[in-house]
Amino acid sequence: MEEIPRDHPRYVSLMIRGRIVKGFEEGIVVPQGLLAHGRGEALDYILGEETHPPALEATRAAAALLLLSKHPVISVNGNTAALIPDEIVKLAKILNARIEVNLFHRSPDRVRKIKEFLQSKGAENVLGDSDLVEIPGLSSQRRFVSRGGIYSADTVLVPLEDGDRTEKLVALGKRVVAIDLNPFSRTSKVATISIVDNVVRAMPNLCRAAEELKNHTAAELEGIFRSFNNEENLRRMIELILRRLSRLSGLEELP
Ligand code: ATP
Ligand code: MG
Repeated sequence: MEEIPRDHPRYVSLMIRGRIVKGFEEGIVVPQGLLAHGRGEALDYILGEETHPPALEATRAAAALLLLSKHPVISVNGNTAALIPDEIVKLAKILNARIEVNLFHRSPDRVRKIKEFLQSKGAENVLGDSDLVEIPGLSSQRRFVSRGGIYSADTVLVPLEDGDRTEKLVALGKRVVAIDLNPFSRTSKVATISIVDNVVRAMPNLCRAAEELKNHTAAELEGIFRSFNNEENLRRMIELILRRLSRLSGLEELP
């Protein structure tokens, strides 16, 4: 991979882009994943490529919910595997959660590559390639889920999800934690908790929050989760974006 000068103003963004490209070259990321990443980059640019307070609050509520769950599952696709493999493994260990590969552009070869890649980072027992059942009413390849994984999960963490499956998971009575830079997406709107942030910042934050809350009582965790309101949190993120755009454009400050 070509060297990126450390003093480049977009160093971090270019490094992240490098990880996606490497994942693409290794057959983990599909071409569509490159486009999805670009859409995310545009939204992150508007956010100033930093984590904002509502996202941190959502992260804390998500950690509480995941710790309260009996059967949490982390759903992994190509982009998340390429971007944050270490954090996926770390969070699974903290939460005692299962990891399941679930792909929109599914092929047995890519499932195997992602599984092997996560195992090389220390993941144990990665699901998604056997004992599969179908989520009813979902036509995309995302419908194939592991019986002992997403199918029987009470809470599913879905970094970079498509709206269709989020809707179906919620309809099945599951709680869904989404990480999505787009506060307008269907995923963000229908998820139980949406963290509007880049996965490369949100996942380390989620690991930290889970570690910090691990020894709290169930009643304390319930309190943190119950006081979170997703609709309100998304509204604050959108308001924050509007204010930033108005300030950056030199237009009048919003009231
Ligand atoms: P939906 O199906 O939920 O309406 P969509 O069709 O816009 O959303 P997809 O193309 O299905 O979304 O998935 C890509 C989503 O992931 C986009 O919303 C994009 O902003 C987001 N995304 C891409 N890269 C990242 C990243 N690194 N961190 C967080 N979100 C990201
Ligand atoms: Mg979509």
